[in-house]
Amino acid sequence: GAPGAETPAAPILQLVGVRKTFGGFTAVQGIDLDVREGEFLTIVGPSGSGKTTLLRMLAGMDTPSEGNITLHGELINDIPPNRRPTCLVFQSLALFPHKSVGENIAFPLKVKGVDAAARKARALELMRVVRLPEDYFDKNVMKCSGGERQRVALARAFAYDPEVLFFDEPLSALDYKLKKALEKELKDLHRETGKTFIYITHSLEEAMVMSDRIGVMRAGRLVQVGTPEEIYGAPVDRFVSEFVGEVNTIRVKREADGGWAGVDVPGRFTLAPPRDGTALDEAFVVVRPEFMRFLGPGDSADNRLEGIVYNEYSLGSRIQYQIRVDAGAAGEKVFLVELSRSRALPPGTDRAVTLGWDAADAFTLGS
Ligand code: ATP
Repeated sequence: GAPGAETPAAPILQLVGVRKTFGGFTAVQGIDLDVREGEFLTIVGPSGSGKTTLLRMLAGMDTPSEGNITLHGELINDIPPNRRPTCLVFQSLALFPHKSVGENIAFPLKVKGVDAAARKARALELMRVVRLPEDYFDKNVMKCSGGERQRVALARAFAYDPEVLFFDEPLSALDYKLKKALEKELKDLHRETGKTFIYITHSLEEAMVMSDRIGVMRAGRLVQVGTPEEIYGAPVDRFVSEFVGEVNTIRVKREADGGWAGVDVPGRFTLAPPRDGTALDEAFVVVRPEFMRFLGPGDSADNRLEGIVYNEYSLGSRIQYQIRVDAGAAGEKVFLVELSRSRALPPGTDRAVTLGWDAADAFTLGS
């Protein structure tokens, strides 16, 4: 076909109406999802939202109560983990403690009956891929650091030569700096190997850094699937908008003249049309702190609010302000404004300020 007009590749994994119930409790409710070959897909959601249950079904450790999971178009609902071309890497890593790095990595090859010389060559190759020094080959795995063991587990997963790798919060036990470094390495590894990665975490920050797409789960449902930019920049509801970052939310209702009036803050507001085009009578205006600004005397903005600065926090390169806005009968409402350090207000609190934002920089959400 014409360049740019090729049909999208068939999904490698497909979920149709996948549900899982435990007794009378539904942990995963009717999930439809296409996973593209070679993508890095992260499932995020709060504790108890069903991420692990979903992953266990994908990896074959559990069977769906309803619905179908297909791999390359073949139904795999009841295929056990060891008969799927997939591999799971989890937080506890499950390495063999008394064996060397090399033996751990070569284990899947040994099971397949690969001879010793070929096993060693492949294990060394995989050690290069995950950036473990060659002289670690004979090192006992328990003498490796947490980050190094993580790499051993990854190399071992690659030794299975799986088509899909599943990751169950593999970085959650590591310290912040190591975690940040491994996030970037995992992303590089994904690109270098071209494998399909499905990753679950409750850390949205982790998901944002690594993923091609993110799926957000809430109470057993997949409420939104999109690129990190879509999830951050066009959340489908307030739950997603709040899960992926700080927000200012104003409840509004439609007036007789078609304009919008604040419910929890007095005033009239100009709104962007809701993304799905629905006509709403009540809505929520959601503005991220970095899209709020302070207005000077001649400055204009679609929307404005008067308030008092009562707190400021340094975020390093950025500064965040908490602003109290008089909310009439409701008392007061706190707004967050985040600016780059170069645009900071002179220090000091209790100053009166005017907040402003443009309709195009806010989301209008129905729920
Ligand atoms: P976390 O981030 O805390 O690991 P999660 O999003 O992975 O949470 P799941 O572990 O999938 O959530 O659990 C989803 C819901 O299903 C929870 O309410 C949990 O108690 C329930 N659940 C999970 N496994 C079982 C089981 N074997 N029997 C009964 N209930 C279960």
